[in-house]
Amino acid sequence: MQHPPIPATVYLVGAGPGDPGLITIRGAERLAKADLVLYDYLVNPSILRFAPRTAELICLGGHRLQRILSQDEINLRMVEAARRGRTVVRLKGGDPDVFGRSAEETEALRAAGIPYETVPGVTAALAAAGYAGIPITHAHHASAVALVAGQERREKQGPLLDYEALADFPGTLVIYMGVTSARQWSEAMLRRGKPADTPVAIVRRCSWNDQQTLRCTLGTVADVIAERKLRPPAVIVVGEVVSLASEGCWFTSRPLFGKKVLVTRPRDQAEEMMAPLTDLGAEVLVQPAIEISAPADWTPVDQALSRLHEYDWLVYSSSNGVRGLLDRLLEIGGDLRRLGNVKLAAIGPGTADELREYRLRADLVPAEYRAEALAESLAAGAAGKRFLLARASRGREVLADTLRTAGATVDQVVVYRSTDVEHPDQEIAEGLAAGRIDWVTVTSSAIAASLVRMFGDALRTAKLASISPVTSGALAKLGFPPAAEARQYTVDGLIEAILRSGDEGKSTL
Ligand code: SAH
Repeated sequence: MQHPPIPATVYLVGAGPGDPGLITIRGAERLAKADLVLYDYLVNPSILRFAPRTAELICLGGHRLQRILSQDEINLRMVEAARRGRTVVRLKGGDPDVFGRSAEETEALRAAGIPYETVPGVTAALAAAGYAGIPITHAHHASAVALVAGQERREKQGPLLDYEALADFPGTLVIYMGVTSARQWSEAMLRRGKPADTPVAIVRRCSWNDQQTLRCTLGTVADVIAERKLRPPAVIVVGEVVSLASEGCWFTSRPLFGKKVLVTRPRDQAEEMMAPLTDLGAEVLVQPAIEISAPADWTPVDQALSRLHEYDWLVYSSSNGVRGLLDRLLEIGGDLRRLGNVKLAAIGPGTADELREYRLRADLVPAEYRAEALAESLAAGAAGKRFLLARASRGREVLADTLRTAGATVDQVVVYRSTDVEHPDQEIAEGLAAGRIDWVTVTSSAIAASLVRMFGDALRTAKLASISPVTSGALAKLGFPPAAEARQYTVDGLIEAILRSGDEGKSTL
């Protein structure tokens, strides 16, 4: 007799309030094992990067709380998928059990005999405390907090929440879903005698890159929301603690807060740039301008690898070059011993770092990170020496030319192919055209050319940050002079240039 498959577990996971870093480790681990992810509209989609690429991702709500699937349909999907042995993650904004309707879902799972686990998350009230600097409890001012639903489901049986009674609550009130209903709940509390000057903070899109905090009072909150046409999601904090919050907070005071920065490096190199920019408060978008792939023909590389001992110098002008050549060496069955006594030159610290990943140390890194400087430093002792240059399928000839002129024998092998990305992501192209992107990072001449081809004049709506004078030159030649240029020709240098330019409030070139 054939047994039905054992159902997989459904995980109800709290995604936190928005900042992807606020999902728990357990939540991210569960997400990493998901076959199906059903997520709410409040969930920051960039959290989905914790899910496997192969996972099916379904967004359950569009704008204005309209669900694409009804609650019954959601339940059915979860049950069906779990029965077929698929691991389901039901990803909810904040904490699943705080106004998250999780009871309806767990009931359905229990009824169907499907095992489930809940992974708590950071709820919006706590995010408002941490990210907007409002201490929701305080030793002297508030020893209790109430999480309050500012509006309730219409189909609810029985009386609605007694907002008048909340006027007597001896502590901080944090009101969820209270934006459109602000007049009702605030007037109810005022009627019962809660002072009109009770401090109030409206914290909108807490922990997102456009977090906003507005201060007002219980007497003015409804008007402030109406006048400013504020839209959800926001939590409204009511209580004395609001007056203890400092004007600014760490989250919105970060130097690039509210700025959108486009990273244009190949995807596997984008991460290195995303992390520091995100930490500085920027919202980082990624649109690779070029793609790196294997060379069309490995034969010349393999031949060079079999004669490595004949060379005096092996020269790398990018970290892609390091990976391209050394990964190939390992792939064809060799290892680092093949390098023997050959000396290693790297164009800059990024390339030298990549060598270190392979437990190799660069013998030479020029003081200035550009091909001319590398060529000059090598040229001095180059006469009669043999050089192997690991290079891209396209690029400048300055290194080979200078070394040959200095009397060296130079062989070049293409260890990776660099091609332009043909079509940008439509959302990014539209965002750029509409002037919604503040900075575009440009980290090589090839990227400069590809960006101009891809975006054309739309590129003028953003400020361009260039990694080096060579890249700036390429941009200028294309008619798109950069607004900032790195002093140190590295990713860190580029980010510093953006910061410097922001400080001065204008372009630095
Ligand atoms: N389970 C969620 C709450 C869902 S109810 C949690 O624990 O946070 C939806 C309400 O949550 C919104 O109307 C808003 O009041 C609040 N909310 C969710 N995310 C928010 C955010 N990033 N900033 C401010 N309020 C938020």
